[in-house]
Amino acid sequence: MNAPELLLIDPIPQSGMPMDALDLLVIRCGLAASQRVGARPLVRGLGPEAFAAMCAACVPGEALENGAAERPVFDEFEELFELLMEHAAPLDQTGIWLSAVIATAAQRDNHLWQDMGLPSRRELSSILRQRFPTIAALNTGDMKWKKFFYRQLCQRAGVPICKSPNCTDCVDHSVCFGPEL
Ligand code: SF4
Repeated sequence: MNAPELLLIDPIPQSGMPMDALDLLVIRCGLAASQRVGARPLVRGLGPEAFAAMCAACVPGEALENGAAERPVFDEFEELFELLMEHAAPLDQTGIWLSAVIATAAQRDNHLWQDMGLPSRRELSSILRQRFPTIAALNTGDMKWKKFFYRQLCQRAGVPICKSPNCTDCVDHSVCFGPEL
């Protein structure tokens, strides 16, 4: 399904306060990664005003067009976008932008930090713990982030994807855990 067009919660970015450096890094990297792979839209789930406000706050001076998908995409973007927004604390403009950027990148094929164009997994773990603390705290075993999110979505949907009732005994343990290199 196509993502909904979201309206801005607050049209004034952070009440004029400078944005947090990690927030800025993640959004800038996500935008750059989308540009590199030719994604259209660059960031899904944001309406034109929200996208323009994000660019004005995060990449001022760059005239970016979000673009539109040529055809409907059937994936888990909306579910992940909603999941992240449910756990964004606070759910302010930056929380929505980050949710959109992360859920957009997560539809690609590599480790999530790579899909987002981040320097390493560390920045991804930091932004998730800082901005989405309640869901990040559920990843007690340090599961690979993309695997973790999709496990969360499957559990919510009541769809069993795991081959074992617990991770310790699972033949897919190395797929879900371990270094994301
Ligand atoms: S290790 Fe096995 S049980 Fe644990 S999340 Fe992965 S697939 Fe599921």
